Amino acid sequence: MKADLQQEFVKLYGKEATDTYFSPGRVNLIGEHIDYNGGLVMPCAITFGSYLLISPNNDNVFRFKSLNFSEQAEVPLNADHKKTGEVWYNYPVGVIAHFQNDGKDLQGLDMLFYGDIPIGSGLSSSASIEVVTAFALNDLFNAGYSKLDLVKLSQAVENKFIGVNCGIMDQFAVAFGEKDKALMLNCDTLEYQAVDSNLGDYLLAIINTNKPRKLAESKYNERVQECQTALAALKQELDINYLCDIDSETFDKHKHLITDAVVQGRAKHVVEENDRVKLAAKALSNNNLAEFGRLMYASHQSLRDLYEVSGIELDTVVDYAKTNPNVAGARMTGAGFGGCAIALVKKESFDKFSEEVSAHYTSKIGYAPSVYASLIGNGVGVLNEVVKS
Ligand code: ADP
Ligand code: MG
Repeated sequence: MKADLQQEFVKLYGKEATDTYFSPGRVNLIGEHIDYNGGLVMPCAITFGSYLLISPNNDNVFRFKSLNFSEQAEVPLNADHKKTGEVWYNYPVGVIAHFQNDGKDLQGLDMLFYGDIPIGSGLSSSASIEVVTAFALNDLFNAGYSKLDLVKLSQAVENKFIGVNCGIMDQFAVAFGEKDKALMLNCDTLEYQAVDSNLGDYLLAIINTNKPRKLAESKYNERVQECQTALAALKQELDINYLCDIDSETFDKHKHLITDAVVQGRAKHVVEENDRVKLAAKALSNNNLAEFGRLMYASHQSLRDLYEVSGIELDTVVDYAKTNPNVAGARMTGAGFGGCAIALVKKESFDKFSEEVSAHYTSKIGYAPSVYASLIGNGVGVLNEVVKS
């Protein structure tokens, strides 16, 4: 991989790149739709991601090229950086602007990006490209940011420069990910625990439904609202700030306060999903993949029936997974209404799984999914170090 990219860099810039960085994408293993309810998420870095080859220049310009997109750009070092339409290089330009607005001294750079991660499919290629750029600049110019600073800075770029209102989980996971560890994270306090997650004979299959997530934003806002309604009702009797401040036992005692059955179901998902994350961390650290798989299925069912954010595409993947004895568990991942599902699949039967899930999905939905085999990988770093560790 690295040799080929270096060749591409030489072709494009007529010299070798001096440094190569890698930042992964991420999936959320469990803990869906609870980050905005004070709950725990459990993402991990995947072994697909974004590469950045870079070489300083003395021309006082930043040059942006990507093997995934045809647009290229050359931006003066000290320009007043602004977002330009919807082009891809807004992401690295936004990161550069952030460094410069913080008073960091940069030099001109020739950059080549390449992602082997599906782009725009909910695996966070955007966080990956932000974080790889931020990490590279910090490293090359000794800018002195901590890794957590880079995470916050990248999220700020996505929120303010790009204009996408995402939480911090994605940038956190791609920066702090560790091989064979899941990150149990509270997105408010940023307290986290790296949970041993040796997948043993299993791998993480990622099944992209290839369905555009059109509904996701409006339904997301609706769910946030419903959770607020449920919280306000529970606050009549409970002294809590978030739905996830209680466990399912306490919830059962007080759920009558939420009079709307649909809203009560939303809250039930939130509280039980948060409990499931804690159980999942235990199961993973005990190498109990059967229990972890059971929790994945339970999470999916709750997202489908109580939270109503799945859809026929994601359900088709998970329903098929249940019929395959070489799958320990499966669920939708991300906001829902399309995007990706994940499944824990025996390594030796991945090819067969991939064929069968594709055939089943295509016959029911009318177009094919894309299926990838991943492991739990490392977070952002210098490429050689990421691969070696
Ligand atoms: P996701 O984060 O789910 O993959 P987004 O729509 O949030 O989807 O981000 C995708 C965008 O990130 C792309 O349209 C592009 O602008 C940028 N991007 C991601 N990876 C690359 C890459 N390798 N080269 C150039 N731009 C990239
Ligand atoms: Mg994104």
